[in-house]
Amino acid sequence: MPERRVSGDARRGAIRLLISSGPTREPLDSARFLSNYSTGFMGSCVAREAVRRGHRVTVVSGPVACPPPRGVAVTRVETAGQMRAELRRHLPGADVVVMAAAVCDFRASAVRRGKLPRRGALTLRLRATPDIVANLPRRRDQLVVGFALETGRALARAFKKLKEKRLDLIVGQQLDGSGAPFGRQAVHAFLLRTSGKVRRLGRLTKPALARALLDEIEQLWYGQPGRQALRKG
Ligand code: C5P
Repeated sequence: MPERRVSGDARRGAIRLLISSGPTREPLDSARFLSNYSTGFMGSCVAREAVRRGHRVTVVSGPVACPPPRGVAVTRVETAGQMRAELRRHLPGADVVVMAAAVCDFRASAVRRGKLPRRGALTLRLRATPDIVANLPRRRDQLVVGFALETGRALARAFKKLKEKRLDLIVGQQLDGSGAPFGRQAVHAFLLRTSGKVRRLGRLTKPALARALLDEIEQLWYGQPGRQALRKG
């Protein structure tokens, strides 16, 4: 599909992106935590591509091993609560929020001080963590992008999530039986707007997905001058 490629230059003005990346961790006791397999590679590809295009990037990152891309301001967090607080702190200075983090969906109802002793069986009581992106106190001029990893009717599920979480754009990733899409695995992806417009990307690497996503973000941002007029300095 031919793409309109627009780069962030001085005339158009660099976009200020706030990107969440990596997993979050929720403590179970003083020595253990609950988390997921996210490595932060997707968020880091988006950040690197945005910097390459001349945009200004702040990353709020959960615990990851890989170093952040050059030219990016990074704040490190551990829990979903800390990620929410840091995103809210940086939100006023952002044009576009990209919620690429794999937020740990559950936390322990009570965190045990010290170390839970090993025993034959253990039942943990868990609670849902806050849905960060759905409850961001966003302004009308800001664009919010989310991710959704789906099986089955991926498009319909992603569209529901787009509405429920009040997103402008969602990156759908289809679990297609070729392995969990963590780390450097290629993914099967599509981009879906609130209008219902969908761009099917097929199977592609994460750097390629980041390029397609930045193309879409630039089209949305530069294509709606009203947003820039509203933008807070
Ligand atoms: O509901 P689901 O986890 O599939 O939604 C994925 C999107 O919502 C991602 O953009 C993710 O970063 C965001 N999310 C969030 N807070 C959570 C869980 C997911 O902001 N507690």
